[in-house]
Amino acid sequence: MDEKDSAAKTVLAGQSQIRGWQEELYKTVHQHPELGHQEVKTAAAVVDALRGFGFDVQEKIGSTGVVGILKNGDGPTVLMRADMDALPVAETTGLPYASTVHATDGNGEDVPVMHACGHDAHVACLLGAARLLAEKKDVWHGTYIALFQPAEELADGAEVMLKGGLVKMIPHPDVALAQHVLPFPAGRVGTRPGAFLSSGDSMRVTVWGRGSHGSMPQLSVDPVVLASMIVVRLQGIVAREITPGEFAVVTVGRIAGGSKSNIISDHAVLELNIRTFSESTRMTIVNAIHRIVEGECTTSGSPKPPEFELYDHYPVTNNDSDTTATVAGAFAQYFGDQAFTIERQSASEDFSEIPDALGVPYCYWGVGCIDPDLYAKAEAAGTVSTDIPANHSPNFAPVIEPTLETGTAAAVVAAMAWLGTDH
Ligand code: ZN
Ligand code: ZN
Repeated sequence: MDEKDSAAKTVLAGQSQIRGWQEELYKTVHQHPELGHQEVKTAAAVVDALRGFGFDVQEKIGSTGVVGILKNGDGPTVLMRADMDALPVAETTGLPYASTVHATDGNGEDVPVMHACGHDAHVACLLGAARLLAEKKDVWHGTYIALFQPAEELADGAEVMLKGGLVKMIPHPDVALAQHVLPFPAGRVGTRPGAFLSSGDSMRVTVWGRGSHGSMPQLSVDPVVLASMIVVRLQGIVAREITPGEFAVVTVGRIAGGSKSNIISDHAVLELNIRTFSESTRMTIVNAIHRIVEGECTTSGSPKPPEFELYDHYPVTNNDSDTTATVAGAFAQYFGDQAFTIERQSASEDFSEIPDALGVPYCYWGVGCIDPDLYAKAEAAGTVSTDIPANHSPNFAPVIEPTLETGTAAAVVAAMAWLGTDH
């Protein structure tokens, strides 16, 4: 056991004493979920807790962003980020602390709200780590920055914090860290060097036809038929234009055209989602979409050019090799065989915009959140995909322990790999 390992264990010795507080906090945040940029109560609870631990706190960064800074002498500076927002999902878990909350979304619509992505667990774990580090300042030195970000699900939470002046509000970190609960057995923690999460883009495509009576198709250019041709042709991009084995997803998530059975509309709208692990593959796909849509519009005799709008962009989450080797080494030492090298995930995150803006390396990892027995049974029966609700499902129900214990320990162990030793 080396010095770093024993120092991390000393910090984590306090875990059993904070468990009751932390579980209550988790349940409260879960029961009171807030949509992106509306995390007012969550941020207020975070601010109160951090001030109570002795952190120097700045709030309302961008929209509802919070940073807490704990200076503890000379040494490295570590930043750890948690996201705070929930999703417009109606919770069906039946848990005693399930959400029944509704809110008004960015389009003015009333929507149900649920912590269906586990950001409540991220908040509870980072506050737990902040508290434990604050209580054991004698075994580490340096500066710990706990960053609570709004609106990860809207793809602009990191961006608004940066635009709100984040870089000037904090000491320059040596490393940035973040974690996400994922649907694998609780107690396990997995990271990997290089690409961890895919890039994500949404694209809105509007194609134009010529409206007519439904009984007189000869007078029209039918945008519904045109859009249908495009949907089919788009399936050829990943199948025929991307190198076999290279990861890529093109999904048509929404198609809208027309208003009534006997009217041929004058336009149709397609909303696409694109996921890749490399910028060159991403550009290949974006260019192919333009080519196919423009070609089909010409073929159909479309009266004006199609319109394209890219939105909700998430960059690739690309873990720095050296930083990840340090974190993975610390995890292996603390978690033993519960630490593993995780597969690349076809989900996306905006976390990396923060370390990229600061010019610092980062490591992101996954924390299991499914009851290990439940998972083992589903795995044995080959029913993981149907029986284990994943993130964004209305049935997503992380088991509280050992999820919080593991996520808190992972946050402390990773930070202590820098803070727990003399540099
Ligand atoms: Zn999510
Ligand atoms: Zn998430």
